[in-house]
Amino acid sequence: MSYIEPAPIKDKENPLESMMQRFDKAVELLGISEEMYHILKVPRKQVIVGLPVTMDSGEIKTFEGYRVIHSTILGPSKGGIRFDPAVNLDEVRALAAWMTWKCAVVDIPYGGAKGGVACNPREMSAGEIERLMRAYTTAMLDVFGPDQDIPAPDMGTGPREMAWLMDEYSKSKGMTVPAVVTGKPLVLGGSLGRTEATGRGVMVSALAGMEKLRINPYRATAVVQGFGNVGSHAALLLRERGVAIHAISDISGAYYNDKGIDVAAAVAYRDNNKGSLEGFTGAELISGDDIFTIPVDVLVPAAKEDVITRRNVESIQAKMIVEGANGPTSFKADDIINDKGIMVVPDILANAGGVTVSYFEWVQNRIGYKWTLERVNRRTDRIMKDSFDKVYETSLKYKVSLRIAAYIVAIDKVSSTYKYRGGF
Ligand code: NAD
Repeated sequence: MSYIEPAPIKDKENPLESMMQRFDKAVELLGISEEMYHILKVPRKQVIVGLPVTMDSGEIKTFEGYRVIHSTILGPSKGGIRFDPAVNLDEVRALAAWMTWKCAVVDIPYGGAKGGVACNPREMSAGEIERLMRAYTTAMLDVFGPDQDIPAPDMGTGPREMAWLMDEYSKSKGMTVPAVVTGKPLVLGGSLGRTEATGRGVMVSALAGMEKLRINPYRATAVVQGFGNVGSHAALLLRERGVAIHAISDISGAYYNDKGIDVAAAVAYRDNNKGSLEGFTGAELISGDDIFTIPVDVLVPAAKEDVITRRNVESIQAKMIVEGANGPTSFKADDIINDKGIMVVPDILANAGGVTVSYFEWVQNRIGYKWTLERVNRRTDRIMKDSFDKVYETSLKYKVSLRIAAYIVAIDKVSSTYKYRGGF
């Protein structure tokens, strides 16, 4: 298989390009040397594998798989595995760097990695996906390891695929090695609290931001775009803390109720309606884009990347944006948001609750002891709150947005670790 260097990302509004631009800005403010800049930018390892898989028809199809280890300076690398037709080395490389900064900002002892296979799981049978996952794991036996590189689910993969990975890896070692992967089913050593962890981190970040803006949660209002794992848990938990949720949305549209939505009823409706809010009667149906224009205290984008751009940023009326999704705000919208005085809790901080509980899963697997849900939640809340406070203090010190401050915290941590360890 010939290796073709991927073309650089050309679309400047691309979320990965936005990440690079924010990274460059933080590096400049930190005064990082040219040498260190290159150390931080270039991934440690990039692996490309060809994966022949027998399909149900008997035909053998060869898929291309990737694993990029961006950094291991803080500890074993951590990052999900994506099964999607659009997966390519360039994207995986950028997402691996993203993981380095996310782990560093919440101060967990991991480096960053990402993996993926260019395939369409929606068109594959469970058996075909299983054979692909096992082939990918075998190809990565030298890369993965509880002290080396710990994968997790990402787009197109979930607990089922992680169970196959754990099984295949364990067979090669002749013993059960649960700590090689996180996001496993509970019975295989998954952690309590993982499902709601990202939404929980969004809630903690939102409350921490409200405290700084002197917004009383019991008088506060919020809207949440996306009602999947992150959005629905964030909405439920914010509601539990007193915040009135004036609108929620999913791919079927946005649902608005200025008296406050009964979030638990919306979750129950979605769960009985094939995962969709379509037809939900506890609110008025409005256009999906209108959710951004509702005057509320908190806006939580928790659906997908690149939804707040120069095109719609002027119409946003929220006082705070808490980024549940990865890359929901384009780099070009940053300045306008800052000029409008809107506080943004950036993705690498606000949605890090998920990787934090993944880390807890690994810790529990390694010590061979299961924590209670109460312990997992308490420790997640503490990490999220401490990380928010550190980023907030950094934003005051450098007189920058929370977003640039988060990159400063992360880059400073990684670069100073390099300086102490030396031996590049
Ligand atoms: P999900 O698939 O469970 O939910 C996505 C939701 O967004 C669905 O309700 C879908 O209908 C909705 N949606 C999609 N397109 C939309 C649109 N154009 N307008 C309105 N709604 C739309 O996904 P998730 O796990 O909740 O992830 C959401 C985001 O959070 C992604 O950016 C993901 O990368 C990020 N994230 C997730 C986790 C996690 O632990 N699940 C962790 C970190 C970051």
